[in-house]
Amino acid sequence: MKITLGDILSGRVRIVVRRRRARRKLAETPEVKRLRAEAKAYLPGRLEELAELYGFRYNQVRIKHNVSNWGSCSVKGNINLNLNLMRLPEELRDYVMLHELCHLKHMNHGPEFHALLESVCPDHLALRKRLREYKLI
Ligand SMILES: [Zn+2]
Repeated sequence: MKITLGDILSGRVRIVVRRRRARRKLAETPEVKRLRAEAKAYLPGRLEELAELYGFRYNQVRIKHNVSNWGSCSVKGNINLNLNLMRLPEELRDYVMLHELCHLKHMNHGPEFHALLESVCPDHLALRKRLREYKLI
């Protein structure tokens, strides 16, 4: 359909601009505050260790608080880690960090990604299953 200026001016066609819904900020409860401090003290150093051990190179690491993912990796090589990782046992934390490090080389969950993850974290399937028992707060 071709839209003309006349259509818009006459009101036959209406242009709706949807504003992205503002993300509700999660409450900085005392627990979240404690987790954030722990995460900042621990996660960047551990990520660096794991990256060095397996030959990954990332750009920046940031500690985030959201309820949508445990971690993420951008095309620019930046890694975000959720402060909720501090509520997990060490092997699950490492699993999430290794998962994100593998995304530095494969920005998807295809066979190559899984082969790489398998090589640095042979137990990844069992760990992923265990991770589902935890909820992000
Ligand atoms: Zn992933």
